[in-house]
Amino acid sequence: MKVTRFAPSPTGTLHIGGVRTALFNYIYAKQNKGKFLIRVEDTDRERSTLAYEENILKNLALLGLTPDASPVRQSERTELYLKAANKIVEEGKGYYCECSPERLQSLREKQQSKGLKPAYDGKCRDLSLEAGTGRVLRLKTPEEGEVIFHDLVRGEMVFQNSELDDLILLRSDQTPTYHLCNVVDDFEQGVTTVIRGEDHLSNTPRQIHIQNALGYTSLEYAHLPLVLGKDKKRLSKRDSATSLDEYIDLGYLPSAILNMLARLGWSKGDQEIFYLEDLIKNFRVQEVQKAGAIFDLTKLNWINGQHLARFETSEFINHLKPYCIANNIDLESRANFMDIVSAMRSSSDTLDAIAKDLHPYFNEVASYDEKALDKFVKDTSLLNNLKNKLEDLSSWNEEVLDAMLAEVQSTLGLSTPQINQPIRIALTGSTKSPSLGLTLSLFTKEEALERIDALINYLDQ
Ligand code: GLU
Repeated sequence: MKVTRFAPSPTGTLHIGGVRTALFNYIYAKQNKGKFLIRVEDTDRERSTLAYEENILKNLALLGLTPDASPVRQSERTELYLKAANKIVEEGKGYYCECSPERLQSLREKQQSKGLKPAYDGKCRDLSLEAGTGRVLRLKTPEEGEVIFHDLVRGEMVFQNSELDDLILLRSDQTPTYHLCNVVDDFEQGVTTVIRGEDHLSNTPRQIHIQNALGYTSLEYAHLPLVLGKDKKRLSKRDSATSLDEYIDLGYLPSAILNMLARLGWSKGDQEIFYLEDLIKNFRVQEVQKAGAIFDLTKLNWINGQHLARFETSEFINHLKPYCIANNIDLESRANFMDIVSAMRSSSDTLDAIAKDLHPYFNEVASYDEKALDKFVKDTSLLNNLKNKLEDLSSWNEEVLDAMLAEVQSTLGLSTPQINQPIRIALTGSTKSPSLGLTLSLFTKEEALERIDALINYLDQ
């Protein structure tokens, strides 16, 4: 059985790159009838907060990436790490080191000035020092040979031991370091497979040495290429939102976000739309490309539009409601709100943008799109003309309205935008609305006439 884990450090809200790591771990566990675990790596007590932890766990639940056991927290497991450190000391696989920060600093500077990679020189390695104040515990890393492991994404990876120095396992205050905790937990939690970002690749040979010292069985690895911005650097706030919350606030569906993240650097024929169950069937972590994957917002918008389009009207409305509330829209204030939403549901690609597009249907027109006015409304004569024609109509439905508009258009020899846009602007403030007969029919005759009057007055002033 395979056991995977997502091991976030709660030093920030859930990042979009973290979502991808969690997703791939989740999928791999489910594909192998295994378990997906969550471990909160909160050993950095200064930067970790409970609020960030809550944000990460809440968002994973929202995405449907539910763990198969309650999450564990490293800050509550110190005893396990100290026990492991003791074992390493007892078996002579580690040693205490009393080198001062000043000595280490000057060593680093000397190495750097010679163009060498900074590394501990092993001064205390054979001194058999006892534990004591100010002393760190280091792992005795083999000086020769190499570490080889197979990476599911990158193939065979080889690291020379001569490149690795003696890693610190316990800090001078005897608290365990990230590497020790990470390795001990993977063992204690029965993890078989580590799927994480490529930024951890250089940690892996070091962690394998700790596993070896503790006599743990080896793990399977997949190091995922990073999610990049357009400038091919790690995705950052410069490029676009990086926090999952921001995407949810904008009205991207969790299913669409997962779909987009799975398609970053992976494909299956020309299929674009994948739900979590499809990914469990079709996705292969081994097929993820090695190169960094560029985050594409246009693609996400398109995918989100596709996922939204698949909802029944009532489901769509349930998803839309919170965004309506946030945008001061009381859907139920209009009896025909289902018709309005059905007509407008593909006006934009995100729920928040759709709610904003709906605003004028439920509220007064707050302002007019001035550019559109300049372009389409030269004077009020056409508006007055149309207003009279609309007033004369004895029934008010899409068909009758379309027929009347077509007649006016051909009598006056106008193009479709010339006749439609002024009315659209009057009704909604902008040119964004469905076909004109339909748009008009979504309002009552009185409302439509009032709105046309309001625009005429505005233009007259
Ligand atoms: N806590 C690490 C991070 O947030 C993950 C370590 C791992 O997955 O092994 O980057």
